[in-house]
Amino acid sequence: MISDIRYWEKKASEGHYAIPHFNVWNAEMLMGVMDAAEELRAPVIISFGTGFTGNTSFEDYCYMMESMAKKATVPVILHWDHGRNMTILQNAVDHCMNSVMRDASALPYEQNVAEIKRCVDYFHAYNIPVEAELGHVGNETVYEEALADYEYTDPKTAKDFVDRTGCDSLAIAIGNVHGVYSSEPKLAFDILEEVANAVDVPIVLHGASGIGDEDIKKAISLGVAKINIHTELTLAALDAIKENIDEPYLAMQRKVRTAVKERAMYKIKLFGDDGRADE
Ligand SMILES: [Zn+2]
Repeated sequence: MISDIRYWEKKASEGHYAIPHFNVWNAEMLMGVMDAAEELRAPVIISFGTGFTGNTSFEDYCYMMESMAKKATVPVILHWDHGRNMTILQNAVDHCMNSVMRDASALPYEQNVAEIKRCVDYFHAYNIPVEAELGHVGNETVYEEALADYEYTDPKTAKDFVDRTGCDSLAIAIGNVHGVYSSEPKLAFDILEEVANAVDVPIVLHGASGIGDEDIKKAISLGVAKINIHTELTLAALDAIKENIDEPYLAMQRKVRTAVKERAMYKIKLFGDDGRADE
């Protein structure tokens, strides 16, 4: 069933677990994630974004996302990830999405505040929740170089940001990056702790593929309630393709679906999200 992200993020926050956010952009990723959610009775967020529009036509694929979400026996949220502007988000909401992220984190602080406030004012009128980002989670690059001029979330501005924007959840930058980590991720848990103490909205961790299990558990214990995974699903899919390269395409596609399912199941269990659909 289609569900409300605010309900599940709040429940996860209070229950000290995290709801998984999986980026999906083809049939095998979507079906693999839904197989995992059903088998583990886990609420899930399935998500699309601009970065995938070169691969898959969102305006068509969204109906497959919506149909599977409606038919699911577990709660499913339809989310747009890293919205670059209002037009993109309006299109997402016009095409089945019931939750959005407006990422204005590359802008200076006051502009980020103004843009998120504008977005929240607009989308709350349609009962659509808005995730925002404070600090800036970089994209895949050499990790040590990314850390050298990394824009960590400033815990001192977190409360001001949430109060003034009215955002429903807050993505933080604590040394996490998107894509593959070229060396061991170093998360600034002190910043996470300070932000979690300062704000009363759920905290979101992007770029969680490749972050070790113990660090993930620690992040959840300190207040992270939504965790974004994309890269690890693609790596699982790629491994399945390499292992089955001589199989017919039809058979290989099923192996990819299973590989995505298994990786999603691993993350759901790690986040403590399994069984939560029935609570
Ligand atoms: Zn992200």
